[in-house]
Amino acid sequence: MDYAATTPIYKGILKRMEIYYHSRYGNAHSHHQYGFKAKHAVEEARKVVAKTLGVLPEETIFTSGATEANMLALRGLALGQKAHHGKTHIITCATEHQSVLSVCEALESEGFEVTYLPVLENGLIDLDVLKKALRKNTGLVSIMWVNNETGVIQPIQEIAKICHEHQAVFHTDAVQALGHIVVQGHDVDALSVSAHKIYGPQGIGALYLKKGIPFISPYGKSHIRPGTPALALCVGFANACEQIVPDNKDICAKFKDALKKQGAVIHGEGAPKIETILNVQFSHFPGKFLENIAISRGAACSSEDSHVLKAMGLSHNQISNSFRISIGRHTTEAEIKNALSYLR
Ligand code: PMP
Repeated sequence: MDYAATTPIYKGILKRMEIYYHSRYGNAHSHHQYGFKAKHAVEEARKVVAKTLGVLPEETIFTSGATEANMLALRGLALGQKAHHGKTHIITCATEHQSVLSVCEALESEGFEVTYLPVLENGLIDLDVLKKALRKNTGLVSIMWVNNETGVIQPIQEIAKICHEHQAVFHTDAVQALGHIVVQGHDVDALSVSAHKIYGPQGIGALYLKKGIPFISPYGKSHIRPGTPALALCVGFANACEQIVPDNKDICAKFKDALKKQGAVIHGEGAPKIETILNVQFSHFPGKFLENIAISRGAACSSEDSHVLKAMGLSHNQISNSFRISIGRHTTEAEIKNALSYLR
């Protein structure tokens, strides 16, 4: 019941990856047969990931995951905007993933100014508030596509348009969007994704960076993201992209209805949402449930009161009685029945 934290890798994918650890292994930077073959496999994988994101292969950079993609994007774009346009103001949102918030905090201590947009009760940002926050020296805006704790979908195309009207570049954390909604055809300048949320391996993600966008890599001048490409992981990521299937909306809707019948309040209802993540509040929620059922108090990466629910205006008491349930491709009716009975 915690597929938003991570998903199991498909066995078939693991099998296809395996040979890249022994018979077809190689360092993609080596100038010999092993290297050339490894490079070819990495480039083929890059093409598939790029196609899935609706972008060009040369705009797709493999990273160790979305945490690194977010941190690389924000720092590199912020430095790029400062160096090329003298812009030092960044806008993000109070409900972002910790990886975005922490790099923003670091950038603040280095002289950048950051505005953290509030959200409405339903988790959406107010576009008028965004418009008012944009200034002449705003170089970068980063707003996540789908929230990892509530499933709320921000209007990414409209946000991108507003940013571009104000000559600011726009990055989005699309980790929880990929595999659930159509991400191709966007008009964003940078976007982060992760393989282990789409039944691929842990330890690999990607950053899309629009061609020509001012970017100064914190890793130095030679490569945006240097290091030996994680050959087998790249192949696994591409395979996972090829096997994306639509969510089982039926099972999600049934689960949601049953939870509501048991007295649950679903946070973020009323806003557009992906169906697989439910942030649920009961009148009383003893923590010991967590021993019997794999659900989450918030993001897997945080143990404190959810900053997302706080930003949505919930009290400490309401937050303490809330948790995230996220279901996935392998969730069965029997598991849902079990979960409902535990919660009852
Ligand atoms: N952003 C969001 C919205 C996430 O849900 C996660 C995963 N917890 C991340 C970023 C970080 O991804 P990764 O685990 O690949 O570092």
